[in-house]
Amino acid sequence: MHRPTRTPVLAAVAMLSTSALTVSLLAAPAEAAPRKTRISGTLTATASNPGGSVAMTGTVKDKGKQKRTVVLEQKIATGWRKVDKVRTDRSGAYEITVPTTWFYSSKLRTRVVKNRKFRGDTSRAHRMSVVPAYVPLGSPTSWTPLGDKGDRWNPCRTLSYGINTSRATPDAATVTQGITNTLALVSQATGVQFTFKGETDAMPLDNRFRRKDPDIVFAFTTDEETKLDLGPVTAARGGYDRTRAARDARGKRVWEALDGGVLYDLTDTATMTAVQFQQLTLHEVGHVMGLGHVPATDQYMTAGAELYDLPLLYQAGDLNGLSKVGLQAGCLRPLRGHRKSSFDRAPVSVSVTLD
Ligand SMILES: [Zn+2]
Repeated sequence: MHRPTRTPVLAAVAMLSTSALTVSLLAAPAEAAPRKTRISGTLTATASNPGGSVAMTGTVKDKGKQKRTVVLEQKIATGWRKVDKVRTDRSGAYEITVPTTWFYSSKLRTRVVKNRKFRGDTSRAHRMSVVPAYVPLGSPTSWTPLGDKGDRWNPCRTLSYGINTSRATPDAATVTQGITNTLALVSQATGVQFTFKGETDAMPLDNRFRRKDPDIVFAFTTDEETKLDLGPVTAARGGYDRTRAARDARGKRVWEALDGGVLYDLTDTATMTAVQFQQLTLHEVGHVMGLGHVPATDQYMTAGAELYDLPLLYQAGDLNGLSKVGLQAGCLRPLRGHRKSSFDRAPVSVSVTLD
């Protein structure tokens, strides 16, 4: 591409007079330097329940009349993460919506993006908390990781899921509703986004991975038809079966889950109510996200049938565990050389008793 250049002109000037060039070099940056910008930012509330209306408001001061771009950033374990952006009005005032869709306690700040004329700046950081509107049962310490190496999904990716309803019991509508409700609660507890890919013919935890398959698959079978044990007391299995080496926020090596899901025993789910099916799904998706069993019977990750007595909400230990595999824990980065070479591991999946 042809591009006019000023360099030869400058060179000619240099040959004419060294002192003149020195002056122009000194003068030029001062003239072209972006001018000062200041951004202020305050939260309209520092705590909220899900769905609350909270904003960060402030002003960009830069002695200009242009609208500026302001970015809302949230501090997670891997650093400041962009959440959203808005434009100021001509006076520099802005208001940006703070997410209250998921549970977190972290710092927020706004940043004005530099442009040709004006510098960038960041506001002071303010801590914001989004907390449940209900009182979760039990202790926040009632959770365990499923894997021994901090296995989890990359919470900074949008995870896709699909449902294989071909043999779904009690019926496809109940199943779809139960799974949708559960993933909304997981999203609320983790900050992880899920996208529904609809119907799939894939089966989870079968060590077969096709590019078109969703990341997380929900499907139905019988004990006789699967290598996984779906025996008399096992209603479903949940987990993941393909991982790759990655690093967490501290640089520690972990396994990043790439494929997983829930395999239900259709003979067990056939007699379940919609509530029971969702209770079972809340437990199994806990495994999918990387949580193991706990002795406490007031948590969804209990190994016992007590989970069928719990309200349809994650409890204190469940929520704390989910937050540890969620967005606040920071993004995962694939280990160098492992970007493509993902490989199979034995399915990490656990049973749950029905009765
Ligand atoms: Zn289990």
